[in-house]
Amino acid sequence: MFSAHALHGSVMTRPAIYLDHNAASPLLPEARDALVAALALTGNPSSVHAHGRALRNLIDAARTQIATLAGAERKQVVFTGSATEAITQAIVGGAKTFASSAIVISAGEHAAVAKAAEATGLPVITIGLLPDGSVDLDQLAEIIASAEGNLLVALHWVNNETGVIQPIERINALVGPTRHTLFIDAVQAFGKLPLDFAASAPDMMAVSGHKIGAPAGIGALLVKSHADTVRLIPGGGQEQGRRGGTEAAAVIAAFGAAAAAIQARYAEAGVTRLIERLEADLKAFSPDMVVFGANRLGNVTNFAVPGVKNATAMMGLDLLGLSVSSGSACSSGKVGPSHVLAAMGVSPGLADCALRVSLGWNSTAHDVDAFVAGYQSILQRQRARQEQAA
Ligand code: PLP
Repeated sequence: MFSAHALHGSVMTRPAIYLDHNAASPLLPEARDALVAALALTGNPSSVHAHGRALRNLIDAARTQIATLAGAERKQVVFTGSATEAITQAIVGGAKTFASSAIVISAGEHAAVAKAAEATGLPVITIGLLPDGSVDLDQLAEIIASAEGNLLVALHWVNNETGVIQPIERINALVGPTRHTLFIDAVQAFGKLPLDFAASAPDMMAVSGHKIGAPAGIGALLVKSHADTVRLIPGGGQEQGRRGGTEAAAVIAAFGAAAAAIQARYAEAGVTRLIERLEADLKAFSPDMVVFGANRLGNVTNFAVPGVKNATAMMGLDLLGLSVSSGSACSSGKVGPSHVLAAMGVSPGLADCALRVSLGWNSTAHDVDAFVAGYQSILQRQRARQEQAA
């Protein structure tokens, strides 16, 4: 992979190593092929003529592919413009449909969930995270036991910053049998864990294309039939009236192709083994390194070496052509404090040193070794400077 960097007015080309798959995964070749083929087609999928039908067939095929990966029925898949849109539909639309009295979220939610909860105008009850990064289920149980109205519980399955896998079976068991509504943000779980939407408790789930090797700008809301009237964009009857707007057939086709390919690609890349190697190599060099969260998904590590600020490390790594994240980059591109680590009780000083490395379908041992070498060189420079100053 190569990227062009502007330097003193000229453009320099050098190898770049991408270690930020939780932000967005590179386009899978299967998705690119599907996208390019679909872009050659003309028309509107709602038209009944041959051109329209060809596009409709692509969308139908993609719906089957998404349903297969999500363990859902085809009719339960509603294509949206992003997971953020699907999440907003589930929470803002769901609160209206189910006459919710309050929204329950956790302190570790993505902004897409937290902001949608806020946008309902209803009381938002936030449950804490335990130091291991998991949602405090005792708190959830207490809230459910004392609730008077209908709650809309909106929780993530896998945390985007730490990779912590939430105890989904216990969440399902707590909320599923009650009158309350359960929405799960499955964006970071999709393709990596078995979803089984149709047979499990959640009323709604959201998934995203660009986390599994499809282009950005496509997501899906999974809905059970009793949540079929949950709306955000009414529009012209597309998606059986559940999401208005002419379907983006080409990106939907790419999303389907990515869903069909991603699990074999993950298995091929062996990301869990690569993350274990990265953590072991860093720990050997910096025994004081801390890894945040327990019961984590194998594609990501969020760690800190005390005293090595993430803003400085990320700049140094970027100069070496290594793209990682602090896990909390806001849309302005600045590094901000992590609300997830704060909720886990990590001190602000240590959280300032947190870096997230997330791997995906095209990650290699070479990428990991380059990261370890790059990070070690930054650490060595910092240690040398500190010794000089002492
Ligand atoms: N939820 C989680 C856990 C995420 O990681 C993300 C993306 O970073 C989103 C929601 C939003 O997804 P999208 O970018 O498709 O709107």
